Amino acid sequence: MLPETGEQVCRSYYRATTHDEMMALLRCYHARADATFGVMGRLTDFMSAWLTDSIASFEFTGNDEAAARSKRYHAFVRDNDLVLTHALIDPQTDRSKVDAPDEAVRLVERRGDGIVVRGARLLSTLAPVSDEVYIGPFMPRRPDEQDKCLIFGLPMNAPGLKIVCREGYDHGRSRTDRPLSSRFDEGDAILIFDDVFVPDDRVIVAGDVEVYNSLLPNFPGYVMLQAVTRSAAKLRLLTGIAALAAKATGRDKMARYQEMLGEMTTLVHIGEGLQQATALEILAQVSAQRDGKPMWTSDRPGEPATFPKVGNASIVTFFPNASRTCLDHLRMISGSGALIYSERDYEQPEIRGLIDRYVKGAAMDAHERLKVMKLVWDITGEQFGARQALYERYYSGDPIKNAAGYFLSPKLAEAEAMARRLRVDAA
Ligand SMILES: Cc1cc2nc3c(=O)[nH]c(=O)nc-3n(C[C@H](O)[C@H](O)[C@H](O)COP(=O)(O)OP(=O)(O)OC[C@H]3O[C@@H](n4cnc5c(N)ncnc54)[C@H](O)[C@@H]3O)c2cc1C
Repeated sequence: MLPETGEQVCRSYYRATTHDEMMALLRCYHARADATFGVMGRLTDFMSAWLTDSIASFEFTGNDEAAARSKRYHAFVRDNDLVLTHALIDPQTDRSKVDAPDEAVRLVERRGDGIVVRGARLLSTLAPVSDEVYIGPFMPRRPDEQDKCLIFGLPMNAPGLKIVCREGYDHGRSRTDRPLSSRFDEGDAILIFDDVFVPDDRVIVAGDVEVYNSLLPNFPGYVMLQAVTRSAAKLRLLTGIAALAAKATGRDKMARYQEMLGEMTTLVHIGEGLQQATALEILAQVSAQRDGKPMWTSDRPGEPATFPKVGNASIVTFFPNASRTCLDHLRMISGSGALIYSERDYEQPEIRGLIDRYVKGAAMDAHERLKVMKLVWDITGEQFGARQALYERYYSGDPIKNAAGYFLSPKLAEAEAMARRLRVDAA
């Protein structure tokens, strides 16, 4: 409830700063991710967290105008309960170059009442059902790329904005045959801005490299909490499907597959623990920023020298790897069982009795087995499942570049210093 107006708004916009508030926010993300089985990663709660982070980041860096504009946009989408998509990535013209391609969205005209932008952005998940799009930063821009330093919001029906969607994955099959594709396809699109006017009240940054580049490094991390919570829900889903598949095949009674299910369960435990750790990380960051420090560091014995970057690190490596492991185990547990006839075939009177007799599961009848195996196939073999797997790997950009980015982390130097201490002591 908004203290100013008493109006009910979605909690995902909440700027939690105390432990109790953070746990309430975590429960909100958890409820949303659980209701959508972790397979809808870019629902509006991703962007509400991003906008909350933006306000905190710009306030911390003293970019008052950008903070005020972010606040206004945050309140606008929150109070109108808008569905917001986002496109942070430049077209994939030539990824061997680090500079922004000519095709990227850029500023072509400043007017008294706003700006005109031209170019393309990707990948806008949820675009087909969104009210507004947010364009913002991902990687830092170079000093001579001012024209590509843009942060703004825009209605999806703005004149000149073309929404070029990928094909849909719901081909009208039944809920039994495609339990996920038929209900949870978010849609993805490339957005082309063919000289689009952005009114001044939707502009947050236009042409200021320093302000643009300051945004992401100073996020307290609300968006990470949303991401980690959604990713943990996805691991729960994969583990749950594997448990059902093991009951269908009888592999739940075999030590080898019990080990796989056990490993998947440990990954769920770790994923859920990372939710708690990320919540604590944000609180630490919020308090460090209150004290005017970008990130908490410690020289107290028994504590790490630099605060762990748990939210980002888990998104960059833990969840993509855990997701791959879970998918692989799921495939092994299901085996050829996932290659199964359709619900319509099952309903044919001349074969239904035979299927009921010959194709039953170890701990379930043939109809139940069909439903379980269709779920397995939708997440491992269908277009929907292939996109989900790509999504987990590319959630936060090129996974190889992201991991290599940690090569520069002070944590690596801290670890090296520890090993060096041992070497010197041993000498
Ligand atoms: C299914 C799916 C859904 C997605 N949904 C969304 C979405 O809704 N919104 C969204 O914004 N993205 C979305 N993405 C994109 C995702 O966030 C990844 O960032 C993207 O896939 C990165 O892969 P890439 O190969 O395009 O580029 P990368 O190589 O990771 O590049 C990403 C961006 O960083 C820039 N860049 C890379 N390296 C440097 C460097 N050294 N210096 C400066 N700039 C650099 C690139 O120009 C580009 O703009 C989605 C991806 C998938 C697979």
